[in-house]
Amino acid sequence: MTSEKFTLKNNNYDAILVGAGIMSCTLALLLTEILPEIKILIIEKLNKPGSESTGAFNNAGTGHAANCELNYTPLDDDGDLLIEKALLINRSFEKSMSLWASLYKKGKIDIKNFLKFIPHISFVKGSENISYLKKRYKTMSKYPEFSDMEFSSSFNKISSWAPLITNSRNPLDEIAATRIKRGTDINFEALTREYLNYISNNSNVEISYKTKLIDLKKIEKKGWELNALLEGRKVSFMASYVFLGAGGKTINFLQKSKIPEAKIYGGFPVSGKWLICEEKSLTAKHNAKVYGKADIGSPPMSVPHLDTRWIEGKKFLLYGPFAGFTTKFLKKGSYLDLFSSIKKNNLFSMIDVGIKNNDLINYLISQSLLNHNSRIENLRNMMPSADPSNWYLENAGQRVQIIKKTKDGGSLQFGTEIVNSSDGSLAALLGASPGASTAVEIMIEILKKSCLYKSKVINLEKKINHLLYASEFTNLNENNSDFLENIKKRNNSILGFHP
Ligand SMILES: Cc1cc2nc3c(=O)[nH]c(=O)nc-3n(C[C@H](O)[C@H](O)[C@H](O)COP(=O)(O)OP(=O)(O)OC[C@H]3O[C@@H](n4cnc5c(N)ncnc54)[C@H](O)[C@@H]3O)c2cc1C
Repeated sequence: MTSEKFTLKNNNYDAILVGAGIMSCTLALLLTEILPEIKILIIEKLNKPGSESTGAFNNAGTGHAANCELNYTPLDDDGDLLIEKALLINRSFEKSMSLWASLYKKGKIDIKNFLKFIPHISFVKGSENISYLKKRYKTMSKYPEFSDMEFSSSFNKISSWAPLITNSRNPLDEIAATRIKRGTDINFEALTREYLNYISNNSNVEISYKTKLIDLKKIEKKGWELNALLEGRKVSFMASYVFLGAGGKTINFLQKSKIPEAKIYGGFPVSGKWLICEEKSLTAKHNAKVYGKADIGSPPMSVPHLDTRWIEGKKFLLYGPFAGFTTKFLKKGSYLDLFSSIKKNNLFSMIDVGIKNNDLINYLISQSLLNHNSRIENLRNMMPSADPSNWYLENAGQRVQIIKKTKDGGSLQFGTEIVNSSDGSLAALLGASPGASTAVEIMIEILKKSCLYKSKVINLEKKINHLLYASEFTNLNENNSDFLENIKKRNNSILGFHP
């Protein structure tokens, strides 16, 4: 499936998916499994898949199951813990695990190329944070999703879980941690390749690299016309259905589609950076993803974490993310991206968000001013023994946060949002978190609203359940706690997790 081999079989497709990141490729996989007869074209402006936010070093590779990310369980005004978001994310991630288990069992993908089990730990300092963590543990461990969560405020115990956290730390420090052993590190770029390798066996699927979408328009009764540049040459395609999975750039194409649903959106880019360590004596000592607490005033995606990462068989440590401001919507994007997304319809909401989010602006400015030593100082909050000479800085992927028009101005959102046209002929994915981990759930939602499925006589729910869980689970009620327990056991045994 390389650009060299690619010659367009035709210019007319049932579905065109823009971008070859984890989102489009998950949708392509679901479509080929559920509607194998439909003709699909994926267009990607780069010369390989999964190289923007999906790229192995461009994200943290955390299989977000809400095991350790404290921003998914905030306190309400009365001091009660809100766990609904954590429960939803956990169940969504289990769907991803279920799909991988089913595909692996049938020999369609190889999990060894992208998935490692690694404990997920939350780590806090100080009495106020410790009582929050204890409350979180007491509440969450009552649910089957998190029943295997452990809590400790013992220095020695935490040291046995993650020695780099306690090395050179004063043993009298007030610290606490929770651990869930069944956490994951996922290489989403490798997963994207696994999906593409498998679906390339279906002759109805084509992928065209070095093909950059420029414009799209709806032609009444005929579908969508997409104009692109293929290695600099103008090409156009027709499709009944379009999915805009162009990462940060999606907002620009959503606006170009001129669907009324697009009018309320704008985007705010935030760039990221990691500190990375390859020193073997350190990577050997750390076998966990350790998430801390975000600083007051900082956005939720800035929660600092010290991660074990496995990339192409090599082990790394990664710390961050550090944030920064840019006007690009993609790492390999244009500085004009932000300006070209400002329209009459969203100008007021964007200004309003700018005025209301002073904390965020100040945070981004202060992060942009950090140097290597100040970043290491920050790392020492989590790993007191950190030595600057063992760490180097790398750019992470771009996130484009959603700005949404509201009755009284605009609001800045940190989640993911699906935008569907009312006739089901176009869908777009905006936002970043919880991102790639929940791609399966998100793409199932997109499929349910698409005209592709509506024009076929199939029982979509049954097909999806069969794809995710195979025939072992005949009586499917996903909200039942027995179901969750059984599906976790089944996924553990196929994916090789031994509690
Ligand atoms: C710093 C950071 C940390 C993260 N950590 C995690 C994590 O730990 N766990 C997690 O689950 N998620 C994480 N995420 C989120 C996750 O990376 C994203 O949700 C996910 O990769 C988005 O995939 P995508 O396919 O939508 O976009 P991308 O991977 O960005 O893919 C979009 C594709 O579209 C292509 N494209 C763009 N414009 C055009 C055009 N004009 N024509 C053709 N093709 C085009 C691009 O080249 C690219 O290949 C993180 C993100 C960031 C930035």
